[in-house]
Amino acid sequence: MPTVTDQSVREELRSWLADAWDPELTVGEWWERLADAGWAVPTWPAGWLGRDLPRELAPVVASEVRAAGAIGPPAGLGMLLAGPTILAHGSDAQKERYLRPIVTGAEGWCQLFSEPGAGSDLASLQTRAERDGDEWIITGQKVWTSGASIADLGMLLARSNPDAPKHQGITYFLFPMDQPGVEVRPLREMTGRALFSEVFFDDARVADAAALGGVDQGWAVANTTLAAERAGLGSGGSGAGGAAFPGRKGGMLQQRAGDLAERAGRGGAVQPAAFGRAFDVLCELAEKLGRRGDPIVRQRLVELYTLNELGRMTGLRIKAARAVGRGPGPEANTAKLLMSKTARLVRDLGPEVLGPEGAIMGPETTGGGVVQEMTLFAPAPSIYGGTDEIQKNIIGERILGLPKEPGPDKHTPFRDLKVGTQPDG
Ligand SMILES: Cc1cc2nc3c(=O)[nH]c(=O)nc-3n(C[C@H](O)[C@H](O)[C@H](O)COP(=O)(O)OP(=O)(O)OC[C@H]3O[C@@H](n4cnc5c(N)ncnc54)[C@H](O)[C@@H]3O)c2cc1C
Repeated sequence: MPTVTDQSVREELRSWLADAWDPELTVGEWWERLADAGWAVPTWPAGWLGRDLPRELAPVVASEVRAAGAIGPPAGLGMLLAGPTILAHGSDAQKERYLRPIVTGAEGWCQLFSEPGAGSDLASLQTRAERDGDEWIITGQKVWTSGASIADLGMLLARSNPDAPKHQGITYFLFPMDQPGVEVRPLREMTGRALFSEVFFDDARVADAAALGGVDQGWAVANTTLAAERAGLGSGGSGAGGAAFPGRKGGMLQQRAGDLAERAGRGGAVQPAAFGRAFDVLCELAEKLGRRGDPIVRQRLVELYTLNELGRMTGLRIKAARAVGRGPGPEANTAKLLMSKTARLVRDLGPEVLGPEGAIMGPETTGGGVVQEMTLFAPAPSIYGGTDEIQKNIIGERILGLPKEPGPDKHTPFRDLKVGTQPDG
């Protein structure tokens, strides 16, 4: 087999794009084309919609697609989390059923993990799964579920065996959202948007065939999802955003692909909180508003540039570790902390650059309101995908070798625990 190099990938993809990219297609049609050619998920196995490309070549593919003025594959949690988790733990039948609609954007996903009493201590979750023939009945509540109102499917963690210790009685279901037992209640944030929702289950149903990785084996499966989340967030993902939302309810499948490409090219606010672009946005605004000479603004812009570079290099370390077969390790935790730090700096610097206008929301303000939105969204990265404190705990325990937090609950049946009062061991 010929060796795949940066150059050979560029050449093959450029010639494919020259034929295949057509701005008149709908977004849905374009995503089908991208998926069929293996360019949507080039690092996935060739048998499952990919091309077996090494991970370090993924950015090459993304940059060629951008350079051709085309749009990339669907954004969102299907591609970021559900796909990699199903690839790692799914049966062939499950891969057949779920992977293609993820890659073509036909179905959108949400992550039904956190509950009011189970966030950092996720294994304390109380949503129940009770077997009923070849189905399971789901009862309980989730919260903070990003994109729940437009998702077709959810990655659901539910307690299938309360007699087992808390990490051992959880099942991971590939859960259909559109059914009578599911109620999604959007929560409005201070940005004015409702990115996430509460989700209530009242005798909802899911097939036994949709249990991923085995009944009561969900904790290991969940850890695959969480590792993908940390790695994705650390390398600049938002956890819920991206270029265009998949799924019928996302409303983008029928749009003209060329229109979306044009919006993305203009840096249009398709994604609400684009901290990755903050340096360019703030430099441009500082220039426009005559604040570029201000020594404090200059100093903080350099600080932001430095953090971005550290983030980029940490991202390279994550890729290098993966290339030699090491999963995302400590680098992912530091990358996640860097992202929180960057968001806090943007929160402080943005209003300084904008001046009094920084206190007004709205597209008519200089910069179109993107800076104000980033300022209001800034607390989020230090919470989602594992809070800053949890990242520091992991670094302390697994890297610095500090003693673990006490957790006497590892062997106690879940039903005998005082749930929500014990830190995760
Ligand atoms: C924008 C956004 C999107 C999200 N999207 C999703 C989603 O799609 N799906 C989903 O399932 N969840 C989602 N989440 C939820 C997120 O994963 C949880 O908020 C997070 O895990 C923290 O849990 P919690 O909110 O219950 O806080 P808690 O766990 O109750 O923590 C409260 C505080 O205590 C601290 N703390 C807790 N335990 C310890 C400890 N052992 N040591 C030191 N400090 C500790 C925390 O750091 C925090 O400051 C999202 C959150 C946000 C902000």
